[in-house]
Amino acid sequence: MRMTEATIFCLRIPFVEAFSHSTSARVYSDSIVVRVTAADGTVGYGEGVARPYVTGETVESCVTYIVSELWPAVARTDYADISRSHDPLSALSSIIDSLPDHEAEGLIAGHGARTAIELALIDCLLRSQKLSLGELLPAKRPSVTYSGVITAGSADAAVRHARYLKLFGIKHLKIKIGATNPVARVAAIRRAVGPETSLRVDANGAYDPETANRVLSALQEFAIDAAEQPIGRGDPAELAQLAAISPIPIMVDESLVTIEDASALVAANACHYFNLRLSKCGGIIRTLQMARLAESAGLRLQLGSHVGETAILSAAGRHVAAYLSDVDFVEGSYGRLLLTEDISQDSIVFGHGGVAPLLPGHGLGIKVREEVLRQYATNIITLASRTRPARFRKGGSGNVSTNEEHYPLAGTARESTAGSGCEVSRTCPTMLPAKAVEG
Ligand SMILES: [Mg+2]
Repeated sequence: MRMTEATIFCLRIPFVEAFSHSTSARVYSDSIVVRVTAADGTVGYGEGVARPYVTGETVESCVTYIVSELWPAVARTDYADISRSHDPLSALSSIIDSLPDHEAEGLIAGHGARTAIELALIDCLLRSQKLSLGELLPAKRPSVTYSGVITAGSADAAVRHARYLKLFGIKHLKIKIGATNPVARVAAIRRAVGPETSLRVDANGAYDPETANRVLSALQEFAIDAAEQPIGRGDPAELAQLAAISPIPIMVDESLVTIEDASALVAANACHYFNLRLSKCGGIIRTLQMARLAESAGLRLQLGSHVGETAILSAAGRHVAAYLSDVDFVEGSYGRLLLTEDISQDSIVFGHGGVAPLLPGHGLGIKVREEVLRQYATNIITLASRTRPARFRKGGSGNVSTNEEHYPLAGTARESTAGSGCEVSRTCPTMLPAKAVEG
């Protein structure tokens, strides 16, 4: 099956409430969504998020990588049907072979762009064959249970959020910590939720090794299940030194972007957990490859998410979370808890206790509302293969033509009509006044 067209939607969806952690603050999500169209007319949707402090990507670099390398590679491929193989990586070999191995130049990795294209291809090919991603990734559990995440902010607000989440039945909480009173913050939350709730912390690389050791040692008495990225991305040997003496299991996040990162971290005994995130890791295929590496090394897993992911990445994450064997913690599916609008017809947000059902529908299992994509797009770029009629302006790439529409006012102009926290509360019964952030 050949792909005849791809459309990139550069989205700017406002958050219900601005969020921050130790390295970033933002008021809107800037995902890119890619829609591919196959020769039989089937369409599929994929999503990636551009995070300069994670993969080095921006929305602009994602678009450049897709236009210059990923789409030309897709446009010259005749994709095989996805078989119901016992090994999903074998079933997806046609997609694996079609995408370039090398990374985008000047970045840690072009993984947001790659994820958007890969998910769109998987969604499209599965839909064309009337298959669900769940048939490719058979679930090992009947539902997926998500964690709550408590962001940066005042200690009082963090305690309030923790109490709301406990009332909502959430059993796993991740607490963002930074330079300001991390121990007092965790202590207050532990007092608020009691001993039964699983707590873990995420510093987003805020500490130097000495400070990290001091903070983790002080947090030991609060029964913390994992400490995520206490020091910045860098030499795995430095992280290994910390992991060897830490009283709390170490989880890598920003240190783990590429397959090469994963191998180096395993070789150095640098951690106890991998935090896999689809867009960070380059899509389902690379995420599964990293999960296998972790499994063979005896490491445990978290399947995390990027703040502001729409229902597309949430749906893909749901399938992967249900499929993975050794996943202890899952994040994501926050939908309109965080975004003023989501793009799926049916809400994908988890319910009481953080529990969410499997998605049995074809492809990724959601119906995308294209009118929402258009409403929040700041830029729409259409790419066609050369076999398509010449209704597109010629672009710079070798085997594609392009058509680009700019909507420079979209982000701010549409905030006022996109809804508010009140609207979210009215339309989303599981809304909680809790924020969830970067995994
Ligand atoms: Mg993290």
